[in-house]
Amino acid sequence: MRVGIIGLGNMGGRIATRLLKQGVEVGVFDVNKDFVQALVGLGATEAESPADLASKFPYVITVLPNVFIVKEILTGQEGLMKGLRPNSLLIDMTTSIPSVTKELHAMLAAEGLRMIDAPVSGGVKKAEDGTLSIMVGGEEDHFEEVKPLLSHIGQNIIHVGEIGAGHTIKALNNMISATTLAATGEAMALGVKLGLDPSKMLDVINSSTGRSFSSDFKFPTQVLTRNFEVGFTLDLMVKDLKIAMNMAEEEKVPMFISSASFQLWKQAWSNGKGNEDHTAIVKQIEEMFDVEIREKSISVTR
Ligand code: NAD
Repeated sequence: MRVGIIGLGNMGGRIATRLLKQGVEVGVFDVNKDFVQALVGLGATEAESPADLASKFPYVITVLPNVFIVKEILTGQEGLMKGLRPNSLLIDMTTSIPSVTKELHAMLAAEGLRMIDAPVSGGVKKAEDGTLSIMVGGEEDHFEEVKPLLSHIGQNIIHVGEIGAGHTIKALNNMISATTLAATGEAMALGVKLGLDPSKMLDVINSSTGRSFSSDFKFPTQVLTRNFEVGFTLDLMVKDLKIAMNMAEEEKVPMFISSASFQLWKQAWSNGKGNEDHTAIVKQIEEMFDVEIREKSISVTR
């Protein structure tokens, strides 16, 4: 199989590397030429433009920061639309706004071109391991056509509905994930303030009903170690929450719990934490509680 990838950042770079390791022929394009050269060093082919990539590779994956950049990549002077063919298939893995994705799909369909949305979940580690969750929106036969390709990078690949459905569930999933991380952060910070050992708290939570991906993975690897290595920025999480909140607003439904969590994320964002890993939301909570959630410490008060 041959696939072109546009967007070689934290997620796209790892997806491209994984595909190369699986023996897939990979073409690459990114405005960051260092990222391009790193992939060329692993065997990928550099494209001069999105149009050039689409003219050489039948499948094109976009993994870009937001839907507006996807639109620019499609419609720009040397954009994808100049290179895509009727038998090409655009696979958009960006976390995007479903209504705009539907508009882009309609624009492509009017030219006889094909597109599905296939956002991913699991973070950089699962992208490296090829164990991402992939949620696909679009026509069933397009889904079946790309399933073998997607199985190189994902473990749970689910067709959720028509175009935009993948982007819809992705935003909802991240709303849950963001809220769970924030709620776990508050509980952990309060526990530390009350004199509990954070490692022991996690031992209990992870064998009890408070367990989540945040308590099981993010706290031990990112927070207790004070690692906070950037894999998924806080900026991108705030973008995802905005998408989810706007979807609720369009449907005229309240989101009480998620709204409270969203305010906390926006506070961290306006305090300059946007370029940090999203787990920096815990630092925001720590500042309010005046504690640090650190391995092997009972209660470190700053
Ligand atoms: P990133 O910022 O690390 O990477 C984005 C890449 O796009 C960069 O390499 C950048 O140079 C490139 N880019 C930006 N504008 C471009 C343009 N006009 N033309 C070509 N390349 C351009 O972001 P990421 O963390 O890799 O996330 C990418 C997408 O995947 C986002 O929509 C994000 O919400 C989603 N996502 C990320 C993760 C994660 O853990 N990082 C997990 C799930 C979903």
